[in-house]
Amino acid sequence: MNAIDNSDLVLVPARATLALINDALVAEGLPAADAARCAELMTEADLTGADGHGIFRLPQYIRRLKAGGFNKHPNITVKKTAPATALVDGDNGMGHLVMSRAAAEAIAIAREQGTGFVGVRGSNHAGPAGLYAEMPTAHGMIGIYSAVANANHMATWGGADHLLGTNPLAIGVPSGAGPLVFDMATSIVAYGTVKKYALRGLTMPDGWFVNPDSGEPITDPKRSGEGMLLPMGEYKGSGLALMIGLIAGVLNGAAFGRDVVDFNADDKSETNTGHFIIAVDIARFLPLAVFNAEVDRHVRDLRQSKRLPGVDQIRLPGDRRIECRAERLRDGVPLARALIAQLDKMAAELKVKPLAQR
Ligand code: NDP
Repeated sequence: MNAIDNSDLVLVPARATLALINDALVAEGLPAADAARCAELMTEADLTGADGHGIFRLPQYIRRLKAGGFNKHPNITVKKTAPATALVDGDNGMGHLVMSRAAAEAIAIAREQGTGFVGVRGSNHAGPAGLYAEMPTAHGMIGIYSAVANANHMATWGGADHLLGTNPLAIGVPSGAGPLVFDMATSIVAYGTVKKYALRGLTMPDGWFVNPDSGEPITDPKRSGEGMLLPMGEYKGSGLALMIGLIAGVLNGAAFGRDVVDFNADDKSETNTGHFIIAVDIARFLPLAVFNAEVDRHVRDLRQSKRLPGVDQIRLPGDRRIECRAERLRDGVPLARALIAQLDKMAAELKVKPLAQR
């Protein structure tokens, strides 16, 4: 892949992006506490490097709030269905709020029962999966989170019908040195990355998108609507997307397959997004200190392991996330000028201060 030209990026302090997100959501009618929670999680997405899932999504969320596609005052309910399970109904609230509630519930159940499995329906796009898988790790627990994505950009392996989403999966595991968070789309890249490429006028590499009729690659991200994303790891990625869809969607009475609403094209219809989160209390298996020390030992082994020729350093999942957070807190979040222009237009319409004045 050619090196990416980053000359269109501007570093913006995270306190400025947080304040704009918060004020825009309040201006569009979200209660102050809800806007603050969404702003906190969207900023965390930007800080940890999930560039297609933080402030990048704000104009779309505002459009959806304006069009009545989100419930601004949802009655999020939790139904305990057995000692270790619960079903959360998000009442079409913003995904960040629904998932915050579901994660808190999974952690509370795991504290009592050793493990908590919480399914979610009636939710919406909630940003990067890693946000939620990380939450249980602060409580000495393992976190596993997954969701049905909000558009079908993939087909099943060998198919040419858009019936699978880029259904993300994240796993968080505590360690002595802080949580390890693995966070991935089941497609070769997240669709947010494709949208980011389109906004910045970048060319996609071969092997991301193909035309479903000819099988030919599509490399212009502005033409992504004509094609379909390929799964990561070929049939393994599409198999994983299917299984996640059955557990995060079908099991919870949420949308999957043909029932998924493409929220990029439709700002009004309820998406009935499904997620699940599992929290596992480590102390029910091993003392937490022993577990953490063992994870640290294995991580050390992996980092110091023999490298393939041309590899300078072993990188483990979550490494970039941690480095990125420290770097962006210090230097600011890189935003494309084209995104800043969209945010300025949105700020003017909502009569809130633009980024440059924060
Ligand atoms: P990446 O392919 O960039 O990364 C996937 C994982 O692999 C990360 O944990 C990353 O760690 C790790 N990794 C990346 N490169 C290496 C390497 N060279 N060696 C070792 N580990 C590596 O992410 P995706 O494009 O798959 O997904 C991007 C985001 O989009 C995710 O946050 C995902 O949750 C989100 N998403 C959200 C959806 C939704 O509906 N809400 C749908 C689909 C995706 P590191 O953190 O260190 O980079």
